[in-house]
Amino acid sequence: MSGSSGQVKGWCPGALRPMRSGDGLIVRVRLTGGDLTPERAAALAEAARRFGNGLVDLTSRANLQMRGVSDDTLQPLLDRLAELGLLDASAAAEQVRNVIANPLTGLDPSAPIDIQPLIRALELRLIGNERFHILPAKFGFLLDGGGVLSLDGIEADIALRAEDDGHFRLEAGGETLGWVRVEEALEAALGVAERFLALRQPDERRMRDMVERLPLPSPGGVDHSSWNGLGSTRSVGVGWEAEGVEVPTPPRPSADPPPPGESRMRHLAGPHAAGFFTAAAPFGRLDAGQLEGLAAIAARHGATLRLTPWRSILLAPLAVDVTAEVSSLGLVVDPGDPRLAIAACPGSPSCLSGEAPAQADAARLAPVLAGFVEKGASVHVSGCAKGCARRAPASITLVGQAGRYGIAFDADSKAPSEAEPMSLGELTAFLAKRLQHFPEKLGDFSIKKMR
Ligand code: SF4
Repeated sequence: MSGSSGQVKGWCPGALRPMRSGDGLIVRVRLTGGDLTPERAAALAEAARRFGNGLVDLTSRANLQMRGVSDDTLQPLLDRLAELGLLDASAAAEQVRNVIANPLTGLDPSAPIDIQPLIRALELRLIGNERFHILPAKFGFLLDGGGVLSLDGIEADIALRAEDDGHFRLEAGGETLGWVRVEEALEAALGVAERFLALRQPDERRMRDMVERLPLPSPGGVDHSSWNGLGSTRSVGVGWEAEGVEVPTPPRPSADPPPPGESRMRHLAGPHAAGFFTAAAPFGRLDAGQLEGLAAIAARHGATLRLTPWRSILLAPLAVDVTAEVSSLGLVVDPGDPRLAIAACPGSPSCLSGEAPAQADAARLAPVLAGFVEKGASVHVSGCAKGCARRAPASITLVGQAGRYGIAFDADSKAPSEAEPMSLGELTAFLAKRLQHFPEKLGDFSIKKMR
């Protein structure tokens, strides 16, 4: 490990390779398809309390991480995870098992493709072929069977998204590569991963980096000879030869643009007519008691739990409204709660790199930030310039600097501050004043008027 946060660049924590942070070790538990039975959820809550500090984070890859684990409690925790069937055979196997899937998989009759059998099959293929173990740590796959909770708007290095009941759209770095039959989809996706390993430059950790260097053709066939020259399988005309990939055809226009993550998260909180309920945790963090409470509610109503990529927990199937029960746990059940539209990392003291307590301050700023959120602004509060909670630019980005906050508009966390760093009090006054000047609905770019 290196660096003040104890992290190697591009490295991802796991259970067998925990990450040291300001409040102890972070142990990430990777759940296949985000699936969690009530029994396992209760057991993990108990383990978080017994072996960690009782705090649990939900990640944007639908995993769960326990915080505050000590060197002394790590091995007993790993033993417990092994008893629960949640520990991989090796750190490499754990790391390569990087697959996001629809949280309603197997529970949504409207989904064109049931991806349930594919999720574990893909994980096993990745674990079973050591060649894939050298994929960069954050390199990930996405399986989207469509339906009520499609994964539109969520990026992955390699994605299979249901096009109809027989085909997936295959994407590399967010770009469409072609269409594949369901029965050939895994082979095609793994073939693309092979191409990445063969073509990547040493500093390219994500597929989009390579796609930027070696652009893919637009469907319809532009010659991009730089992708050619690999393999002998059926060509799609672009050098991305992979078994099962069909010749690309023009993409269908989608009815609605995919909502950004925050909108989807807000939209999701609470009960849904499709027979599920989403409990959201502010900034993706809950405590052991809340997880235990959710497990009890699910068990009481014969439901299971699924972690979502929107850092929330879904209960399904449900024939009753559990709003009151979930609300009594202190979790968010109102899709209008402004905290759901604010991205915030833990910051200090949980993170060694934190220059400000981002999550705690985001909660304090939520009342004033709510005014901007209601006008369509996105907000990111970051403990330092690394910006772990949000990679994309936000309408308002606050970045911790020696206990104060810099501020930037329509920018990511690495942008220079547009004002002298402010204390929390100064920031609150600054934002309240600016908000008064902008009573109209803010468009994507009108936030610039705040400068
Ligand atoms: S952005 Fe937040 S979580 Fe990431 S290193 Fe900085 S303080 Fe830590």
